[in-house]
Amino acid sequence: MRTIDELGDVRGKRVLVRSDLNVPLADGVIGDDGRIRASVPTINELAEKGARVIVCAHLGRPNGKPQPEFSLKPVAARLGELLGREVRFADDTVGDSAKATVDALADGEVALLENLRFNAGETSKDDAERGAFADALAGLAELYVGDGFGAVHRKHASVYDVPQRLPHAAGGLVAAEVEVLKQLTEDPKRPYAVVLGGAKVSDKLGVIANLLGKVDRLLIGGGMAYTFLKAQGHEVGNSLLQDDQLDQVSGFLKEAEERGVELVLPVDVLAATGFAADAPHEVVDTTAIPADREGLDIGPRTRELFASKLADAATVFWNGPMGVFEFDAFSGGTRAVAEALIASDAFTVVGGGDSAAAVRKLGLPEDGFSHISTGGGASLEYLEGKSLPGLAALED
Ligand code: ADP
Ligand code: MG
Repeated sequence: MRTIDELGDVRGKRVLVRSDLNVPLADGVIGDDGRIRASVPTINELAEKGARVIVCAHLGRPNGKPQPEFSLKPVAARLGELLGREVRFADDTVGDSAKATVDALADGEVALLENLRFNAGETSKDDAERGAFADALAGLAELYVGDGFGAVHRKHASVYDVPQRLPHAAGGLVAAEVEVLKQLTEDPKRPYAVVLGGAKVSDKLGVIANLLGKVDRLLIGGGMAYTFLKAQGHEVGNSLLQDDQLDQVSGFLKEAEERGVELVLPVDVLAATGFAADAPHEVVDTTAIPADREGLDIGPRTRELFASKLADAATVFWNGPMGVFEFDAFSGGTRAVAEALIASDAFTVVGGGDSAAAVRKLGLPEDGFSHISTGGGASLEYLEGKSLPGLAALED
């Protein structure tokens, strides 16, 4: 992948930067702004070099048409604060407002286009429809920089088709993320431990299948653990369960044993009377989860067990919270795993939007980890061994 330096002198050039600004937004108020902050260095670098920087990004799933609640306008304001420069906002993506905004840019100035996904062409599966939108986007600029790591696993116009139409480079964020993922996949230092959590096991089947051939230890917590516990023959009460994945998960348990991978499951959980922040709960062994209870976090013995399996690891990748960390009472397991990573001397990588948000919500130091990825799906697909369209397009 080319670097920005290799694009040559960008002064006065219109550079389209695909960033990942997909932050949680409720009633116009930004929640965790980690992805905006991660986008700042590349935009600033280009502005300082005198480029006319045109940032494009998506927010949520507005289904191909303008919807005010998915407008990037609040993000433009926050981006401007973080950049320390004015961000001109275009009310559309490739229409009159975008063209006028881009025409008005002076050297070193920054504009943000409205949500890419207000256009059906952005995510279309139809090559011609996507291509037509890519033509319009590419028409705004002379150069392209791919820096939206959280979207590189998508075959979308701004990610995949535009770099085929303009001279392109990878931004610093994409380059840094890929560098880290290479370290996890090409000859990682051992013992190599992976901690997986989050809600759905079905989201992570591909990565589990691939990791079983690569890791020494696989620790499973969060909602997905209950499908594993059930596959082992335990009752899980009202806990999150994906019945249709039981066969697949039984296969993983068998494969782990055959390959000598240590697959570590929770031994106790916080069993609550319902899914609520203030739900009464108690610690129970995973062999004795009452039928009317649901596990919302890993228990204290599991926290210790997981920490002990991470203490002497040399490489750790963590994706997915250990419990419903959004509720304070059920955030302790996630905190324990995060603290185990912080305490370890290993090369530690956090992937996943909710995991990264949990680190910040719990007030833990971000620099306690070797790397916090901005891309959940993208980093998982990379670890699955898939080719990512947005990286492939930047390769040549
Ligand atoms: P990431 O974004 O880090 O990849 P996921 O999206 O896979 O993580 O999962 C995050 C969600 O999983 C969180 O909203 C969390 O509340 C939920 N979760 C974790 N443990 C449980 C559990 N035991 N029961 C229900 N939901 C859970
Ligand atoms: Mg998530």
